Amino acid sequence: FNAPTPANEPVREYRPGSPEREAVKAALADFRANETDIPMHIGGKEVRTERKLRVAPPHDHQHTLGYFYEGDAQHVKKAIEAALSAKEAWAGLSWEHRASIFLKAADLLAGPYRARINAATMLGQSKNAYQAEIDSACELIDFLRFNVHYATEIYHQQPNSSPGVWNRLEYRPLEGFVFALTPFNFTAIAGNLPTSAALMGNTVVWKPAYTQALSAKVIMDVLNEAGLPKGVINLIFVDGPVAGDIIFNHADFAGIHFTGSTGVFQQIWGTIGANIHKYKSYPRIVGETGGKDFVLVHESAHADEVATGLVRGAFEYQGQKCSAASRAYLPSTLWPAVEAKMKEFLAEIKMGGTEDFTNFINAVIDERAFKKITAYIDEAKKSAQVIVVAGGNYDGSKGYFIEPTVLKVSDPTYRTMCEEIFGPILSIYVYEPSEFDKMIETVNTTSPYALTGSIFAEDRYIIEEVTHKLQNAAGNFYINDKPTGAVVGQQPFGGARASGTNDKAGSALNLYRWVSARTIKETY
Ligand code: GLU
Repeated sequence: FNAPTPANEPVREYRPGSPEREAVKAALADFRANETDIPMHIGGKEVRTERKLRVAPPHDHQHTLGYFYEGDAQHVKKAIEAALSAKEAWAGLSWEHRASIFLKAADLLAGPYRARINAATMLGQSKNAYQAEIDSACELIDFLRFNVHYATEIYHQQPNSSPGVWNRLEYRPLEGFVFALTPFNFTAIAGNLPTSAALMGNTVVWKPAYTQALSAKVIMDVLNEAGLPKGVINLIFVDGPVAGDIIFNHADFAGIHFTGSTGVFQQIWGTIGANIHKYKSYPRIVGETGGKDFVLVHESAHADEVATGLVRGAFEYQGQKCSAASRAYLPSTLWPAVEAKMKEFLAEIKMGGTEDFTNFINAVIDERAFKKITAYIDEAKKSAQVIVVAGGNYDGSKGYFIEPTVLKVSDPTYRTMCEEIFGPILSIYVYEPSEFDKMIETVNTTSPYALTGSIFAEDRYIIEEVTHKLQNAAGNFYINDKPTGAVVGQQPFGGARASGTNDKAGSALNLYRWVSARTIKETY
């Protein structure tokens, strides 16, 4: 096995007047002017239904970007049949021929489709140009290229043999079909969950979040142009419970690749458990779920670095990252300097639509998210335990805009310090330096999650102590950096506890879950 050595796709800057910015602007204008038709893709065919649902930019919700077609139970069944009938040929295709398709898809995204996938993510999911670039271009391209690299490493791992005996491990795909259930917040994750399983020889039913329909369409176009055979990845838009009812009752259900909420994942796990006798194999259950990601600051830290880490970690993409910094613990000695610096940064930040490239904050994804997040703000404003340090205003009339909001709480177990909000709210608890040990304990115990977290400190003994004591509190742990922005091939991503099964995305650990190896012993 041999595959090109991957390197991370360089992040483009989109400076004013640059050709790359002009290309994205043209793609944005094109999406704005022409309604996009977004069919399902089942067995290589485009499928349309009577139920057309509207796609709108979250920052301009009265504008229509296009329509996708919602399917029903029959479409789920057809997608499963298509996946099962494509399986034998796909699994039998040599590794190089499978891998080449995904390498080609990566090159299409890096080149001719880059402006289009970024524009789709900017408009459909309200990401600014930089957030779109690091997600729908770079991270997705990296997933596709690095997975090929990690798969070759896996295939190389073979057992020992002895005189007269040749042992081998054949990394077969799972028997049956894989279900990929993907979120709105990263186009890269939506692209990675079906393609990583497919790369290992599986065929897939892919159900993206409805709010990601536009960029899902671009991914499907890219995969088709790259030569993905019919039925390998089947894209459906079907209501969750309707799809789940068919899929989790199917004898050939072989695994789920999931990113989404903890509640939904736990429900799915329970359903799979209850149906376990119905399946031919034990399904693989791989999920990345919620987070309540911490930033613990020691008094030896640099105030400016902390302020930068907090503002970027909490508010990039409106805090809609599972990894977002949403609870911070600061010593009273540093708080005044950090507060001043954060306020300075926040005063410079602009909020608005994504087509204006100077806006840092855009809209949250939909009305449901807007209501949920603003309810936390309303309650905080009324609470005697909370001071609103910054932000706190919102306006959903044109788009779902919520100001980056910083809450200072007097109780480290106040709800915004414990519950996942998935929006632009950062809660801060200011402690006395003598309470630092207690803070380590508080970080570890006040939330059920363990996705990401940061320690800011210059004192090396403190860094060492916190790294050790919080070893189970975050699957991705950052020292003197924000807890977001994991790069494929550099910081494999995933968390434990209520945050998921920790099968690090963009690593061999994840790809192992999509194979069911056969050991072959031959005597000669
Ligand atoms: N991998 C992303 C990061 O490191 C977060 C992924 C997510 O939100 O699910 O920021």
